Amino acid sequence: MFFFGDNFDFDSSDIKIKIGFFHFSSCSGCQVAFLDMFEDLVEILDTVELAYSSWLTKKREIPKLHIAFVEGALCIEDKRHLNLAKELAEKANIIVTVGGCASFGGVRRLSIGNQAPQPSHQSFIPLTEVELLRPKIKYAIPGCPPNPSLLYNFMIALLEVNDDFLQPFEFMANSKDASGYDIVKEIINKGLCTGCGTCVTACSSQAMGFNFQYNKPTFNPELCVHCGSCLAACPQSFKPYPQPVYS
Ligand code: SF4
Ligand code: SF4
Ligand code: SF4
Repeated sequence: MFFFGDNFDFDSSDIKIKIGFFHFSSCSGCQVAFLDMFEDLVEILDTVELAYSSWLTKKREIPKLHIAFVEGALCIEDKRHLNLAKELAEKANIIVTVGGCASFGGVRRLSIGNQAPQPSHQSFIPLTEVELLRPKIKYAIPGCPPNPSLLYNFMIALLEVNDDFLQPFEFMANSKDASGYDIVKEIINKGLCTGCGTCVTACSSQAMGFNFQYNKPTFNPELCVHCGSCLAACPQSFKPYPQPVYS
């Protein structure tokens, strides 16, 4: 069964872990991915208390939470976003950013602003780059949206405090602007790529391709939605970078 670890500011009057779901500027696809867990979600909700969700609970006031799951990027022209960021920084024990928009900017990186129906919304920041939230953001889940089975496995690992499983998500929380460009810059150009092709199969927008002559992936920035899946899937991305050896 699940147990509480150091991650949680545990109050003995709390019987269940309190979680909440929030969204900033997003298409809501990440929240839908959570609902796509179907019966697995029911199993998880046996163990945790869904204390806040703009979709699923009636509460309008944000309670103190052990874990806040957040999708979407913060729009700096939207006062409601600024207020929500302040409340989350104050009330959430830890924050998990869900999906490319919250974690790395996602499609919001491609925004040109002045668009209907919110012409005043022009500038978006991934939550992992919002200084007020940074100290609380422990994990970032890649994907656009993340696969529901990945979300299920993440939730179980979080509740069981399975640090081995969670480590890559911690790494992703510090991987600014994760995209196919980082695969080129951090993996291929540093000679770490083994040509396994995992990043190509992880990319749902076909921005990653494969050059069979050179046995290396290719990257088309015009198709990239900055979901971070390629970097998260690359088995070389979590290794320490080699340094030259001086004799
Ligand atoms: S990451 Fe993708 S699915 Fe999730 S909110 Fe952003 S655009 Fe939607
Ligand atoms: S290259 Fe593909 S998998 Fe990688 S961030 Fe861009 S869209 Fe996502
Ligand atoms: S997943 Fe990593 S190692 Fe494999 S082909 Fe892509 S960049 Fe190379």
